[in-house]
Amino acid sequence: MPRPDPLASLFPARPAALAVALFVAAGGLLAQAPAQAPGLNGDRAAGAATVDVKQCKEWLHTLAGPEFEGRGTGQPGFEKAANYVAAHFKALGLEARGQDGTYFQHVPWSTTKVVADKTFLKFRKGDADVLTIPAARLGGNAAATDAAGDVVLLCVDVPAMPPPGEGGRRMQMPTIEGLDGLDLKDKVVLVHIRQQDDAATRSPVATFAVRQALQGKEAAAIVLTQATTPSGGMVGRAGAGRGGRANPAAGGARRQPAQPTIGGDDLAAILAAAGMTVDGLAKAPTATPLPLRAQLSLATEEANAPAMNVFAVLPGSDPVKKDEYVVIGSHLDHLGRRGDAISPGADDDGSGTTGVLAVAQMFAKNKVRPARSVLFVCFSGEENGLIGSRFFADNCPIPLSSIVAELQMDMIGRDEEENMEGDKGELAENNRNTVHLVGTKKLAPALHDLCLAANKTAGFEIEYDQEGMFSRSDHANFAQKGVPVAFFFTGLHRDYHQTTDTPDKIHYEKLLRIATWVYDIGFELAMQPGRPEIEPELWGKFRGGGRNRAPEAPAAPLKQAAAGGK
Ligand SMILES: [Zn+2]
Repeated sequence: MPRPDPLASLFPARPAALAVALFVAAGGLLAQAPAQAPGLNGDRAAGAATVDVKQCKEWLHTLAGPEFEGRGTGQPGFEKAANYVAAHFKALGLEARGQDGTYFQHVPWSTTKVVADKTFLKFRKGDADVLTIPAARLGGNAAATDAAGDVVLLCVDVPAMPPPGEGGRRMQMPTIEGLDGLDLKDKVVLVHIRQQDDAATRSPVATFAVRQALQGKEAAAIVLTQATTPSGGMVGRAGAGRGGRANPAAGGARRQPAQPTIGGDDLAAILAAAGMTVDGLAKAPTATPLPLRAQLSLATEEANAPAMNVFAVLPGSDPVKKDEYVVIGSHLDHLGRRGDAISPGADDDGSGTTGVLAVAQMFAKNKVRPARSVLFVCFSGEENGLIGSRFFADNCPIPLSSIVAELQMDMIGRDEEENMEGDKGELAENNRNTVHLVGTKKLAPALHDLCLAANKTAGFEIEYDQEGMFSRSDHANFAQKGVPVAFFFTGLHRDYHQTTDTPDKIHYEKLLRIATWVYDIGFELAMQPGRPEIEPELWGKFRGGGRNRAPEAPAAPLKQAAAGGK
């Protein structure tokens, strides 16, 4: 039985909520009941009841567990996770529409592997060999390199990080002093970074700042040093393979020079050969030529690697409307294994993928099958630049014009708090019931209204101050095609993109409530007579006068001007 709300004109069949409202208004029995939001409509409540918090915990602990090793696209852990999601879809009896009858859309993906027996860093003093470091004791990023030169030790002081930029969003790069006028041309530069603040969480930015400062110095090679011996090997480039459309993110990775790292006993041995010690680095001058010559040989080979979007379909019950689709999405991948560090990505985006598993079960187990079809998809390569969803949108298994909306869940498992990117002063305890709704006002206001109407049941405090995140998840590739999107996001936090983003920190009750909200919105979109239309002026504005890739006409129908319209 339908629920009364502004959209009642759109979906006439919803009496139940009306009854509730009337009862409360009439001060009837329900008056005693706590101010409970009306329940889900009867046509969909049964499905929602098939998923509980315990189930969500099981799914997320598996997705973010050790076996899947942080689900790095192109890595074995990702492929295991993809099979896990496919098995879930199969168990629910959802249709497989992927390649060869599977639930997979394979994304061309290649990784660069280091050829160990041709990879080494050798140091010589005069005619004598001092040390040869094999591939197993090198860390950092690998790219084919052959370089040699006299060694210069560079001790760089990195000042404390400046506060985040305007709007608390962008991180500021520290300024590196003291390198101007240094002649490092054709030298092999050993870099020791001395940081002024909390190294643990900020070193990637410091390293990047030093790298930027050394650009243009035409060094033969730059070798970073660290206290311990690197383990886990060098990390090769991962990204869309030659088959896929070149992706700027992947292209950037391809161009990056080799960034080998050494440390531990190897660093001590090299310094000893130059009459120095590791402890002495704290007081060493910025640049010290060492009486050593080094040769860096890095050999790599390209290898195809597992990358697939995992998707399934619940066909609609209406003979006509079944050819229209509501898409429910998340990204399955995260940062994976990098060296010996594994980033579990419980919130990013283990929570969203748990949301997709939950919503899929709600739909599949609900007695009433909606009129339109529903497509559930977990994308790959999101962390590498939204690569999987771009491939999906560019090679869509269903007509883009048939997609009524894409509902994206990315990071729906935490309470927003201050983080490395900003959000100064935000405290988790103040955000237990807040969710960010992103992108719904950009193209089709009817979708926005629908989300708000369904929130009468869900009961969240919706925030709109994260539009800046619009281009940072997979829905962006659908919006680019002119598909209405809604992005559900609980906000950043201190564990974002850290190895500490673990399942024990997830707010499971909230995650399930968001998934149920998305289910309710998706059900409405799949049942309602009409579909959200794109406002022409909003589309024009979104296209930015054609400055971005968006096509002339959106894939979804444009709203016709009331007067003179059809
Ligand atoms: Zn994410």
